Amino acid sequence: MEPSLQRSMLITWFKDTTVLGMDEGKLIIGLPLPMFLNWHLQHYKEQTLKAAQELDSAINQIVYHVDLSLQGDETRTVDILSLFPEKKSRKLPGKLEMSVGSEGLLGRMFNPRYTLDTFVVGTCNRLAHAAAQASASQPGGKYNPLFIYGGVGLGKTHLLQGVGHAFHQANPRSLVLYTTSEEFTNQVIEAIRHQKIESLRKKYREVDMLIIDDIQFFASKERTQEEFFHTFNTLLEARKQIVVSSDRPPRELHDVLQDRLRSRFERGMIADVAEPDYETRLAILMDRAKEYEIFFDQKVLAFIAEHVKDSVRSLEGILMQAVAQYELEQRVPTIQLITEIMCKLSHDVHEENEEMRAVGFELPVKRAPRFEDLLEGVSSYYSISIQDITGTSRLREIMVPRQVAMYLGKKYLRMSLSQLGERFSGRDHSTVIHSIRKVEKRIQDDPLLLREVRAIEREVGILE
Ligand code: ADP
Ligand code: MG
Repeated sequence: MEPSLQRSMLITWFKDTTVLGMDEGKLIIGLPLPMFLNWHLQHYKEQTLKAAQELDSAINQIVYHVDLSLQGDETRTVDILSLFPEKKSRKLPGKLEMSVGSEGLLGRMFNPRYTLDTFVVGTCNRLAHAAAQASASQPGGKYNPLFIYGGVGLGKTHLLQGVGHAFHQANPRSLVLYTTSEEFTNQVIEAIRHQKIESLRKKYREVDMLIIDDIQFFASKERTQEEFFHTFNTLLEARKQIVVSSDRPPRELHDVLQDRLRSRFERGMIADVAEPDYETRLAILMDRAKEYEIFFDQKVLAFIAEHVKDSVRSLEGILMQAVAQYELEQRVPTIQLITEIMCKLSHDVHEENEEMRAVGFELPVKRAPRFEDLLEGVSSYYSISIQDITGTSRLREIMVPRQVAMYLGKKYLRMSLSQLGERFSGRDHSTVIHSIRKVEKRIQDDPLLLREVRAIEREVGILE
């Protein structure tokens, strides 16, 4: 395989992957998505073990652990790549090439890609972006402190680091500190334990710009907030810029932040980032697609933009999967491939872990059906009773509709295979898989069956 392909595969499958720890010779590696597991087991396990052993000969086993919270968590992403020193080329796209503290930029998470210039502006984030720009160019001015809030994957971290980059670029001798509320909390706790609180205070009070991400995770520990409050006031008095982010506005943080902190934020500049509209989603996709050395048809990008609405992170996830498919199986990104990826991701979401709903992929359907709707659709299309469909008869005229019903159930319902099996007279998960596979396979070379399935989908109102 070409080295450039290998490199981008590495980036794809190692995104948000990290070393979680060591346990008696076991190196525990965290993967952000269940679907990474197979790839790692099949393609990287041996290589990873070898590389790890070169670093530490005591390591004798690689254990994988899927941890959804790793998604987009750059604080923990860097480590794993260091296992592959020869692959850690300077040419890696910015995503993983964390500049670990170029002089003056303090904090582990300065991602070179997160600049204000690469941030796509739309109505959903215009104010936040403008405020970010103003904070960088007139720090300590009207927009101090700057408070940016919004849901997951909507660009808060990107904007925060963008402010830091822009300010630092204009003032190369300045000190910019980026941290998360969790890291800050840990530092305070550590400092207290080791009686180093003075030096911690000093470190924070010397900076020219303080950026704290995700302050909703601030521990409501008296001491942490006390430290933060003093640092915060000292910096504000010295007219140093402070930028923070949170998943909600200050007024909704009363269970997390002390009142005086909250009200201080309320008197500063507050801007939200909302879900991007269609045009912004498309513009982001076009930007991101350019970074990969693959041609994406405009129609394909438009299709993704139309169907994935909840967050920029989800958009990027789909694009990344398409790139992986291209690299691993030479599959050109078509609308069909994208649909498959969306179904697969959304299937995994339901199958593997309820929490992954947070990833929020939308199936390209007009309306999400209920189980009963599907059954009724199948029943009226084939003119057989619902009892027969869910029953145990092994007549072919009934088995095929039953398989189709299971197939549709898997495709459109938020149900695991075992849950689905229960609705069909308690069939187990492997029987359900078997039936579904049959339909999937037959649809490929039997246009008649495909037409039947489409007709039912239309009848139930899933498709146009
Ligand atoms: P948050 O911190 O709000 O959870 P991030 O800043 O981590 O979200 O954004 C998730 C991903 O989406 C990042 O890769 C980021 O670069 C990208 N992103 C989000 N919003 C935009 C935007 N408006 N333009 C370009 N990229 C964006
Ligand atoms: Mg973030």
